[in-house]
Amino acid sequence: MSILILAEHDGKQLKQSTRQAVTAAAVWQLPIHILVAAEHADVVAKEAASISNVARVIKVEAAHFSHPLAEDVSAVLIKLAPEYKVILGGHTALSKSVLPRVAALLDVAMLSDVIQITAPATYVRPIYAGNIFATVESSDSTQVLTVRGTSFEVAADGGNAEIIRIEAPAANTTTRWIKEEKNVSDRPELASAHVVISGGRSLGEQFNSLLDPIAHKLNAAVGATRACVDAGFAPNDIQVGQTGTVVAPELYIAVGISGAMQHIAGIKDSKVIVAINHDPDAPIFKYADYGLVADLFKALPELNAALN
Ligand code: FAD
Repeated sequence: MSILILAEHDGKQLKQSTRQAVTAAAVWQLPIHILVAAEHADVVAKEAASISNVARVIKVEAAHFSHPLAEDVSAVLIKLAPEYKVILGGHTALSKSVLPRVAALLDVAMLSDVIQITAPATYVRPIYAGNIFATVESSDSTQVLTVRGTSFEVAADGGNAEIIRIEAPAANTTTRWIKEEKNVSDRPELASAHVVISGGRSLGEQFNSLLDPIAHKLNAAVGATRACVDAGFAPNDIQVGQTGTVVAPELYIAVGISGAMQHIAGIKDSKVIVAINHDPDAPIFKYADYGLVADLFKALPELNAALN
């Protein structure tokens, strides 16, 4: 029996979450295989084969994988499932849509957002917005899980896995791809950025004009609280927290953010947290390594000028 990882990629490059899943899979000490579903899988399959510890890369190519749908990707995984003890992926939008479907079709439990694998089949996962860590054991014959990327190292290159090709099942007929609307940004990706600067709703209409110049100088990704997103000051895809992106940068700068537990759930693994808030009693200061009690409308222009 082996471990099967669902590769996440953009058609040209693997996402970091796939390499983090490889690190997570090492605990079983079983051969690790990676499934690359794409319209043209050669480039990504080659990169996957070069990851240390990977034994095999399985390519499945079809036009309908240019925009993978849960129905189509899960059909491939179900076909392969009898050969695997564990099927896993990063805790990403793709895996979160595909793997619960796979678990349901296999009639096994879905183990989501695993942050630690203490032994094969024993997992630690956060519940109640990260306030409690539950250790769960699964007795299912096939274990299906997603792993939180920030909890596992990025597996390095150094492997030379075999690459095989399998036939794609026919495209499903019930769901079809229509379009994708994406915010294009030259900023680093939020989930993997080394520096993140996030703003709360108190920035209001000045969210972009105050944060962007600083983010540019620090080569940082920009994040926001849910309150800020709900108020329409920032787009939904940069929300950080329990129901947004979980980040673990070297430096997290929280500006005008109260520090609600749902926000903290998404930032607490950051190496250094800096908070700017005019309320000295704001809960964010309990989690911050450095705190500045100041009016953000004064502090941010000063910080921007100092970075020159
Ligand atoms: P507020 O709580 O309004 O805080 C604003 C802060 O700005 C205050 O601390 C204030 O002192 C400070 N401030 C105001 N003016 C200034 C100024 N001039 N200078 C300096 N400081 C100033 N939230 C998330 O962020 N991410 C999530 O994923 C998330 N998921 C949720 C899921 C559920 C099920 C629920 C119920 C809630 C969720 N929330 C989430 C919302 C969360 O509970 C908070 O409401 C939200 O994080 C608060 O955002 P905020 O800090 O921007 O706003």
